Amino acid sequence: MSEISKKDRMKIPRQAMPEQDAFLRAQNFKEVNLGFTEELAKMEALRCLQCPKPVCVSGCPVGVKIKDFIDLVANGDFLGAAAKIKEDNVLPAVCGRVCPQEEQCEQKCIVGIKNEPVAIGRLERFVADYEREKLGVRLPQIKPKTGKKVAIVGSGPAGLSCAADLIQAGHDVTVFEALHELGGVLVYGIPEFRLPKEIVAIEVDALKQLGVEFKTNSIIGFTDSIEELMLDEKYDAVFIAVGAGLPYFMNIPGENLNGVYSANEFLTRVNLMKAYRFPEYDTPVFDCRGKNVVVFGGGNTAMDAVRTSKRLGAKRACIIYRRSEVEMPARLEEVHHAKQEGVEFIFLTNPLEFLGDENGWLTAVKLQKMELGEPDASGRRRPIPIKDSEYEMPIDMTVVAIGNGSNPIIQKTTPDLQFTKWGNIIVDQETMKTSKKGVFAGGDIVTGGATVILAMGAGRTAAKAINDYLANTEVW
Ligand code: FAD
Repeated sequence: MSEISKKDRMKIPRQAMPEQDAFLRAQNFKEVNLGFTEELAKMEALRCLQCPKPVCVSGCPVGVKIKDFIDLVANGDFLGAAAKIKEDNVLPAVCGRVCPQEEQCEQKCIVGIKNEPVAIGRLERFVADYEREKLGVRLPQIKPKTGKKVAIVGSGPAGLSCAADLIQAGHDVTVFEALHELGGVLVYGIPEFRLPKEIVAIEVDALKQLGVEFKTNSIIGFTDSIEELMLDEKYDAVFIAVGAGLPYFMNIPGENLNGVYSANEFLTRVNLMKAYRFPEYDTPVFDCRGKNVVVFGGGNTAMDAVRTSKRLGAKRACIIYRRSEVEMPARLEEVHHAKQEGVEFIFLTNPLEFLGDENGWLTAVKLQKMELGEPDASGRRRPIPIKDSEYEMPIDMTVVAIGNGSNPIIQKTTPDLQFTKWGNIIVDQETMKTSKKGVFAGGDIVTGGATVILAMGAGRTAAKAINDYLANTEVW
């Protein structure tokens, strides 16, 4: 592509992603973004300056060879581009859809200094979808069997990426999953309109074809402990990837009223109990039709919950966040889409109490206005209550989406594993080794709620360390 000068590349505007009309999509659960066409992808790829030192790669937690794959796209070799991405990322169709690119690779993109950065995420998604549609998922080569057994606890992105690397290395891999569906937050948390379940299912299916065994409805700590997996079931190593699925509440009066949900419960009911396919499936969730719904929080989970309530028919779907828009941690695209779909945002406001009727049903929330003070430990400006600014807002349903912590089951049943005071497993960051011999951990259970790509990166780091460990361990 050398015939196109840098100057001319800089003149090409960032290509817009075709998407469903906002009014229509706010009434269905189909994917919002429709993906680049081949022409759009090639045009977008031409915007890449092919920098001699591609700093974008330093923004990618798994080090995808961004410059190389984009060059292949610009030359029309989409399958070659897919293969190049998969050298470092086993779930590109997922990451292309949900990674916070604006804080990672695209934030570092040199084009972004003067213009909008190259749409790296959209190109990743295009390439992964192209490969899947043309060829299905291509299975990698597997090394000869080693006779070693590894148990992976949890089937989210950390567990799946670790499983992918270990099965290819020739080990026997079994993934234990507490829920009846595989994929972790990718299926029970992130809604269909952002990440179609089929995409995760295809990736999981590829792992099954490679020989990974999946055991659903298996809560490690109840069905078997980590110790039992190692001593009784003779697993040579264990990778703990149980995520951070325990919802935080606000601890304000009225949180036990009917109509108050945690985001986890609300989204799990909609995603796993198929309320998103209403009326084909009768929904086991609050009937939002014509109702006032308020979601508290400013992250991706809050955006997913509020947009879900809108799709379930809420008359007023509203985000209330205690800081300002600038501090909201959600992906920019999700906020933008939510606004287009008619979601209302109320900033600098905090709930004090939920109010209910005599039958225990939520009827209103008492709110207080806030202002921003000095930055706190998170680096964001601290919200401070404004005196005498309380007011009430009538609501029918609310979702609390202020974050998640770790479930204590593993901690309670694995006494020789070290945890932080917040219940996160302590690991060596280079290897993901825990304090217990043969046990590794990664993803949200180590970092606290983070991102898909970081969880995947941890899974791959652990797989490498498990390989090294098994190479030096006797088989049972
Ligand atoms: P998880 O994905 O949580 O998977 C852990 C799995 O372990 C679960 O399936 C759980 O059922 C299982 N498990 C738990 N305990 C046990 C046990 N005792 N025995 C067996 N199995 C067990 N990140 C992004 O990058 N972009 C986004 O847009 C984004 N949106 C999000 C939206 C929502 C609603 C949520 C909740 C999170 C979002 N995140 C997003 C964060 C991201 O999904 C997580 O950081 C990531 O999924 C963590 O991966 P994990 O593998 O560590 O854990």
